Amino acid sequence: MSKPEIIKADQDEVLDIELEEDFLQANRHMAELNRRSFDRHHVKVIDFMGSIGAGKTSIIERLSECLKDKYRMGVIAGDTATSIDAERVAKHGVLSLQINTGRECHLDAPLVRKASKRLLREGVNLILIENVGNLICPAEFPLGAHMRVVVVSVTEGEYMIKKKGDIFRSAEVGIINKKDMAGPMAVDVDGLVKDALAANPKMKVIVTSTRTGEGIKELVAALGL
Ligand code: MG
Repeated sequence: MSKPEIIKADQDEVLDIELEEDFLQANRHMAELNRRSFDRHHVKVIDFMGSIGAGKTSIIERLSECLKDKYRMGVIAGDTATSIDAERVAKHGVLSLQINTGRECHLDAPLVRKASKRLLREGVNLILIENVGNLICPAEFPLGAHMRVVVVSVTEGEYMIKKKGDIFRSAEVGIINKKDMAGPMAVDVDGLVKDALAANPKMKVIVTSTRTGEGIKELVAALGL
């Protein structure tokens, strides 16, 4: 069978390319201001990215259980419409705020600035950000966080890392979650670890199961917490 033809968008076929560049530039500038503010307040900030259902909230819940006595923590949860994630985190006794982005498929630096100001007033020294569930959009929008983490789960199948390399290149830590489902899903976890390291050789890759707690200690260490 012959290979299918690939049609690529040329620069002049991408609509509003200049407008988009301005947006990205403005976001990057605000992200730098956020970082300066976080550093001035001695707050460590970590941005968790990944698809809906990868387990970002579950990971943050597990981290909250481990770290809430060690740090004064705050969580910013991003979602298009609901407050489910912030409510789940709040049950662990952690200060949590929800951002609803409406039609936007990622958080941006100005929204995080607004939410983080509220948390800084409460004297937090660690902020975990759950980005909107999407494996593409957040990559281009830094928020000012000190570290970016990408979460994928074995239930997303065996090709998602190969297909979404950009977001792996933008992150320092990669989590392969739901290890407990690898058997039933017939997914090779070691293969996913290899794909993540192929996309970003500098990345620390941690295999976790939020159900069994496997890998959470290693994750805490990889995050330097
Ligand atoms: Mg979530």
